[in-house]
Amino acid sequence: MKITRRQLRRVIKEELSRLWEQAKNFVCPEPTQDLELNTKNRNSAIKADYIQYGPLNLSDEAYWERAAEHWKTTPDVAKDSRCYNCVAFDISPRMQECMPGEIMSQEEIEEAIENEEPWETLGYCWMHSFKCHSDRTCYTWAAGGPIVEDEVSHDWQERNTQ
Ligand code: SF4
Repeated sequence: MKITRRQLRRVIKEELSRLWEQAKNFVCPEPTQDLELNTKNRNSAIKADYIQYGPLNLSDEAYWERAAEHWKTTPDVAKDSRCYNCVAFDISPRMQECMPGEIMSQEEIEEAIENEEPWETLGYCWMHSFKCHSDRTCYTWAAGGPIVEDEVSHDWQERNTQ
């Protein structure tokens, strides 16, 4: 069977597109690899009235009072809603490999929790697309996290790229 150049180009294009569809959910999210983009997204999350990512300084009590007012609760209760237990906070093994530099592994975090020791890490926020700190929070916090399984992480990525 003969194949023209045009047909060959079409077959290659279709095949590349199929491979990209399969691979795109396995690629690290762009902000984890691009500091400028990450900073831009983080700054937008800090400024946006409906997000208010923070506090910049973890001991900023005024931030927690504002958050408590927003959630109609007390500062102490507001402090229980942080990135580390947010549904969009991704610390799955595959995401940990996307993070630059040294961060705590899931095993180290579990050990610290078991020993009632303090811990902190960076994770990826799927709601606002930047690397966020486990001890911070934002007004769009939602219960159900963190994301600790690769499969769940891939699902979030798939939904984010549609
Ligand atoms: S959506 Fe969740 S993970 Fe993202 S910044 Fe807000 S609290 Fe943190």
